[in-house]
Amino acid sequence: MSRILVTGAAGFLGSHLCDALLADGHEVIGMDNHVSGRPENLEEVFYHDRFVFYEHDVTEFIHISGEIDAVMHLASLASPVFYREHPIKTLKVGALGTHKTLGLAKEKDATYFFTSTSEVYGDPEVHPQSEDYRGNVDPYGPRSCYDESKRYGEALIRAYRDQHDLDVRIARIFNTYGTRMRLDDGRVIPNFMKQALTGKDLTVFGDGSQTRSFCHVEDLVDGLLTLLESNIDTPVNIGNPDERTILELAELIIEVTNSDSEVTFEPLPPQDPEVRRPDISKAKNKLNWKPKIDLYEGLNSVVPYFEERASL
Ligand code: NAD
Ligand code: UDP
Repeated sequence: MSRILVTGAAGFLGSHLCDALLADGHEVIGMDNHVSGRPENLEEVFYHDRFVFYEHDVTEFIHISGEIDAVMHLASLASPVFYREHPIKTLKVGALGTHKTLGLAKEKDATYFFTSTSEVYGDPEVHPQSEDYRGNVDPYGPRSCYDESKRYGEALIRAYRDQHDLDVRIARIFNTYGTRMRLDDGRVIPNFMKQALTGKDLTVFGDGSQTRSFCHVEDLVDGLLTLLESNIDTPVNIGNPDERTILELAELIIEVTNSDSEVTFEPLPPQDPEVRRPDISKAKNKLNWKPKIDLYEGLNSVVPYFEERASL
């Protein structure tokens, strides 16, 4: 059994990660300031005897007594709608929050785990994206608060690895979906689900020809835990390479929700990446990991969650 700190624990991925770590027998310390996460995501584990929760902003000094085996830093604003609304908080959690959590990991001699993102590749000119692609990011662009905070985070981790010999892992996560996503978080799957389930038109931005590749949260968390257990101290893409256009996704969601909604087209946000698809050769070869849940099956499995909340 290990003692593991999870920042961003009340969020979508963080709460699923806490569940999985507890199921594997670990002791989990959850931390969150609820800027985008919700206490209800932790309802099922809140009184678990191997779980404690601290409400804390990770950009401030973090004190935890006792030993810690791993620090998993997931805290961030993660939806384009939220990070555009809170660009300074986004930069601070990627920069100061990563610094504070790295300092804690160094103090405790713990393994450090960072959830980076496919956004480090920006609007990619190389397709699909493998880990050695250096990206196409506009440092002064509308998404830069997120992209650059994660790129800076990776650089800081590299420095702690090199200068302090810290044991580090970096997962570059591609678009993931599942239960516990906020219906108002603006990301495409919760948006389309909510629209389809309330009889509203699905708002496809641009002509819907831009692509993304969607991974089910169960596969994603399995990938994160496999990476944690490995000894790979360089970035690894974790995602599902099944690439779809956004228009195709809209049609699929109309189908799985059995909805009468139609598609409407709205302007594409500036610098919205045209394509995105992970090359997961590294994860396959070095971690023996690949996703198992296909999109149709995965979307079907989350309809009841969205249905329950869509009309609230
Ligand atoms: P989320 O918004 O659901 O969860 C993030 C959590 O971090 C929230 O609970 C929020 O309250 C918390 N948080 C933010 N700033 C904080 C701070 N200063 N102090 C303490 N807590 C803070 O997002 P998510 O989708 O669960 O993403 C989790 C991580 O995975 C993020 O680092 C994100 O960048 C990364 N990621 C996610 C995806 C995806 O598709 N879900 C893709 C790429 C990367
Ligand atoms: N998108 C859309 N309609 C919506 C929300 C998003 O067409 O209501 C598009 C968005 O422009 C992008 C894709 O869906 O091309 C994925 O957007 P999301 O915000 O989920 O994440 P991103 O991959 O852009 O970070």
